[in-house]
Amino acid sequence: MKRALTWIRRDLRLHDHHALSESLKSADETIVVFIFDETILEKLHNKNDLRVTFIMQSLKEIETTLAKLGSSLLVRFGNPVTLIPQIVDEYKIEGVFFNRDYEPYAKLRDSEVTKRLRAKDVGVASYKDSVFYEKNEVLNGSGEIYKVFTPYKNKWLEKFHAQEDTASEYFISNKKFYQYKNPKNVLDTDWFYEIGFIETPGVLIGGSKEALKLLTQFRQYISNYKEARDVPALEQTSNLSTYIRMGNLSVRDMIRLSIEKKNPGYETWLSEIIWRDFYHMILDAYPRIENNSFKPQYDAIKWIGKKEDFEKWCDGQTGFPIVDSAMRCLNATGLMHNRLRMIVASFLTKTLLINWRLGEKYFAEKLYDYDMAANNGGWQWSASTGVDAQPYFRIFNPYSQSEKFDSEGLFIRRWCPELDGISNKKIHAPQEMDMFEQAQSGCVVGKDYPYPIVDYKSQRDKALKMYKEIR
Ligand SMILES: Cc1cc2nc3c(=O)[nH]c(=O)nc-3n(C[C@H](O)[C@H](O)[C@H](O)COP(=O)(O)OP(=O)(O)OC[C@H]3O[C@@H](n4cnc5c(N)ncnc54)[C@H](O)[C@@H]3O)c2cc1C
Repeated sequence: MKRALTWIRRDLRLHDHHALSESLKSADETIVVFIFDETILEKLHNKNDLRVTFIMQSLKEIETTLAKLGSSLLVRFGNPVTLIPQIVDEYKIEGVFFNRDYEPYAKLRDSEVTKRLRAKDVGVASYKDSVFYEKNEVLNGSGEIYKVFTPYKNKWLEKFHAQEDTASEYFISNKKFYQYKNPKNVLDTDWFYEIGFIETPGVLIGGSKEALKLLTQFRQYISNYKEARDVPALEQTSNLSTYIRMGNLSVRDMIRLSIEKKNPGYETWLSEIIWRDFYHMILDAYPRIENNSFKPQYDAIKWIGKKEDFEKWCDGQTGFPIVDSAMRCLNATGLMHNRLRMIVASFLTKTLLINWRLGEKYFAEKLYDYDMAANNGGWQWSASTGVDAQPYFRIFNPYSQSEKFDSEGLFIRRWCPELDGISNKKIHAPQEMDMFEQAQSGCVVGKDYPYPIVDYKSQRDKALKMYKEIR
């Protein structure tokens, strides 16, 4: 094949890239293309969306690398279904290569693009890249997909260890990139303006260089991951979720680190990566979960929570310090620790009695690492509506969670500075301070910090009733 096109989407890197590797092998020259997809961008109402800047930073890094190789990244804005066939005509492309994406919209889009290209007699090839195993690769004894994580994980590991080539890198031949310079490349053109967004740098810097730096830094913590991963104030998780979401890093990059040593920290980290595969497999197999409970009977729940409580949850003004600190951190940075995601999701659904879909949507707007499969999986797990979810009667107590995972209130103090003067004992429930303690701590409850907006114990009883009604 003379000329091929590699269409990059959620795989914004030039190393260990399955589709790109195959494209470079199959064609004399390969042009790399990125489309700002109008359907995806239209859904982002905040024009300062941090993720758009993260993507732009990733694209700039790619352009810089390609320019050194005499090539350039072709960038367009619009509907890929019409743009990819147009580019194919313009550049006389004989084959289009891309990595598979398992979200419902992406699957529809890709099948439409494929149909149009095949109608033109252009070859199309798609590859597994963003997950380690796809949905039909890890099946139970009856040839069906697993709906429980632990046996899935055991089978995943069995298959992985039986494989000779565990997680080797896809080779990228630097000599075969199409030689040209895109006059509207991301370095010389104001693409933020073109797509109607505003450059908004956040706490993360997009790109593979940064991703690989974080991966290396994480080496110092991974041995201790099993114990440290649940303590938000320690900040000893990898912080790589945005990088793997955008594909600055490959899943194989992560797995290679996880198998460097046999130790509980490494094994637990690999287990989290397997959770990621699990949720992607579930979304691929059950696209209906985008809008529905995995367990259909749970769609009948009558959520009785109040709109104003949802707003207070969003703003970090519930009067529950562990919840408020987590939400304020999310609002300010786009990040939230996994333990805190579980706490605030359980709190929204089982303490405030508010539909998980509202929380899921809020996270989708705010999270740097928003990923439909993991976010939907996490929310439905917390709300007990999902695949292999926690049982409905397991309700996180925000006070004991706070005492256990932020015992000295270090995380709370960081994000709720009005609580900083409170003792380690009372910081989890400031309303329990007497007048003297309030004066001494400099925090008057009801004035400097809100009273709890609900009574945890009575809400718990209501939650159990609400769930029991549909069983
Ligand atoms: C309600 C809720 C919503 C969530 N939404 C998202 C989301 O939109 N995007 C997202 O990537 N993760 C989501 N998660 C999973 C998890 O919270 C994040 O992946 C993790 O906090 C990212 O931090 P890290 O990179 O430091 O993770 P580490 O602890 O270093 O884990 C390594 C990697 O494993 C993967 N991973 C870890 N935990 C999970 C998990 N429970 N499910 C799936 N993959 C996991 C991530 O890719 C992560 O980068 C959600 C969890 C919950 C409970």
